[in-house]
Amino acid sequence: MNEYDSNRIFDITKKIDYFPTTKKSEADCYIINTCHIREKATEKVFHDVGRVKKEFKNKKKPILIITGCVAQAEGDLILKKDRYVDAVIGPQSYHSINKVIKDIENKKEQYEITNFETIKKFDELKLTHNNNSNVSSFLTIQEGCDKFCKFCVVPYTRGPEHSRNFHEILNEADRLISNGSKELILLGQNVNAYNNNNKFLSDIIYALEKKKDLLRVRYYTSHPKDMTKDLFEAHKDCTKLMPLLHLPVQSGSDVILKSMNRKHTIKDYFEIINTLKEKNPKIKFASDFIIAYPGERDDDFKKSCELMKRVKFINSYSFIYSPRPGTPACEMEMIDEKLAKKRLFVFQNLAEKIKLNYKKKLLNQKVKVLFENKMKDEKDKYFGRDEYQNPVIVHSKENIIRKEKRVLIKNFSQHTIYGELIDNVNHLAA
Ligand code: SF4
Repeated sequence: MNEYDSNRIFDITKKIDYFPTTKKSEADCYIINTCHIREKATEKVFHDVGRVKKEFKNKKKPILIITGCVAQAEGDLILKKDRYVDAVIGPQSYHSINKVIKDIENKKEQYEITNFETIKKFDELKLTHNNNSNVSSFLTIQEGCDKFCKFCVVPYTRGPEHSRNFHEILNEADRLISNGSKELILLGQNVNAYNNNNKFLSDIIYALEKKKDLLRVRYYTSHPKDMTKDLFEAHKDCTKLMPLLHLPVQSGSDVILKSMNRKHTIKDYFEIINTLKEKNPKIKFASDFIIAYPGERDDDFKKSCELMKRVKFINSYSFIYSPRPGTPACEMEMIDEKLAKKRLFVFQNLAEKIKLNYKKKLLNQKVKVLFENKMKDEKDKYFGRDEYQNPVIVHSKENIIRKEKRVLIKNFSQHTIYGELIDNVNHLAA
């Protein structure tokens, strides 16, 4: 979502003649768009500010603005601690950025804008065209979260759940498609909680299915509790909806899920997986896991490993629990660091093994790949992603960017799959 927000910030600042540059040392304005999910996020911001100071040591100071969730959560501290920072703007207020830049140009005051103005933000953003022309483009449809998992800062940094207007989303989709986007990735902290006047995520997916020049649709990140019947049906009916679902589970143990306030059980999770497999037998799953959450016993950890083995997630993101200031879990007793590291090692090894087996099975298979760009340093090599978002590289004399092609998989490395083009699949049955 930060990538989407950063692009929208660029679209807004163009109105006052501030354009993105790759020449950092010549920038008139620096915007550091931050994420608070990862560990030591605030320290990283101060580190980045230090780098800007160093870069501009003997030059005119640029305007320096911190945006995003760290600005929201730690804005006060940042402004007090470092006078070099001109403004902090939370993720729901970045529509005000032009006014802030102009005010700083004139008055050189420090600014803090951290209100939750989600409705106003999207009202103003609809007046600014999304100029993104990536093959695969993000499209935010929902923001914020009301779930309050005990470890998570999102409800405090992005605010309550808000769903954008259905028609505005489709207008933005039309714009992205006419810019050349072939894949749209619908975004939200709880994307499947989307509800705008009884229009749901499935309604957006069905509407996008009808867009002629669009090839693929995905959505991130979903919560098991919001996997509803209509969404299951969309997975059956909509051929443009890709057969990969990222469905965070966080733990394989009901005891830990309860302690996390996740609002679902492992039985619920399996029911979702089984229903989706019935609706679309091609579907595969990715997930997020927190390892060594406070109170996690050996038995709970084993259940996470069992879940991994049963579902065979083709991608998983696992981290040792680390406390976020202001969240309820922050008060809980941490698990011994050595034990936590050992569990993460075991878990990630298991995940890698499962992934390796999955990749081995891909050898000599035919897959559909949407090509995104030409490789920079390699002649006639093109990069794309298959339906499961695996990165695929092929050789082609013809420019195949923005095209979906059938590829025969020949080889793979840890991060990439290599294949040979078969033919053009745009007009073939799936
Ligand atoms: S549902 Fe997701 S965004 Fe919301 S609190 Fe839980 S982890 Fe955070």
